Amino acid sequence: MLRTDQVDRAEGVLLGTAAGDALGAGYEFGYPTADQEIAMIGGGPFDWAPGEWTDDTSMALCVADALAAESDALATGSVGALNAVATNFVTWYDTRPPDIGNQTRSVLSHRDSSADAMTRRAAGLSGRTGGNGSLMRTAPVSLAFLHDERGLVDAATSISALTHSDPQAGEACALWSVAIRHAVLHGTYDGLRLALSADPALSHTWSPLLDAAEAGTPADFANNGWVVHALQTAWWAIATTEEDERQLPHALEKCVRAGGDTDTTAAIAGGLLGARWGRSAIPPEWIDVLHGYPGRRAADLISLTHTLTDGAS
Ligand SMILES: [Mg+2]
Repeated sequence: MLRTDQVDRAEGVLLGTAAGDALGAGYEFGYPTADQEIAMIGGGPFDWAPGEWTDDTSMALCVADALAAESDALATGSVGALNAVATNFVTWYDTRPPDIGNQTRSVLSHRDSSADAMTRRAAGLSGRTGGNGSLMRTAPVSLAFLHDERGLVDAATSISALTHSDPQAGEACALWSVAIRHAVLHGTYDGLRLALSADPALSHTWSPLLDAAEAGTPADFANNGWVVHALQTAWWAIATTEEDERQLPHALEKCVRAGGDTDTTAAIAGGLLGARWGRSAIPPEWIDVLHGYPGRRAADLISLTHTLTDGAS
């Protein structure tokens, strides 16, 4: 059973993801000027409604729905839940979402019906395969595996590989998911560094990248459509913002001001910020207007969270 504070933080994961996504949606591909206000206004290149989330949260909900239905199966190594994720991705793709990422489109356009076929499709793509499109949707995996960190790493890696074959995409998903799990359970960001200290090979790659994020500026990781720079942008925004109860909105604003793929960097950051500070730290005026595919609002994300974490210890 989760304690009351842990339940609040678990509820913050999907809501924080959606809030960052919807906040950044109006500024995607832009670089806001210093005097420009950052608000939940919608608009942007795809003309979102205020509070409407984009592909980041929509795909996260594809993952969440599948794991809510079949998390036990995934934990025990069955491919049932992974197939359900793949099926949900294709169902979402068939709605013709306006903002689908290039790499994800290349895979999903084949409408593979099994996770195995989809993973092989992704592995067969040529060129760059390390977009940020799997990291942006990994947060709900943490909720389904609060009881099992090893299972979480395996699941996050497998779900990433459905569309993104670059090992760094899988590593980023595993790392961020572990950090979110730790934040829900313990209320700190320590999970990120703890995950690295437990894995020398992972640490060799990612410790310098986290160090660079903490010491750098957005210009140092400006290619944030790439999974590495997207994670660095999100971590930079969190690590350089005062760790108090207003950190969530402040750090999300910093993600947006960093520019580029603003909805995605803010969605990534929002999952971890929400896990650290909980639903109660998300501005109520944001929660009121959040909505998006598949016809859901904040209350639906909260009840889905309860299903995902049911039985967590
Ligand atoms: Mg998006």
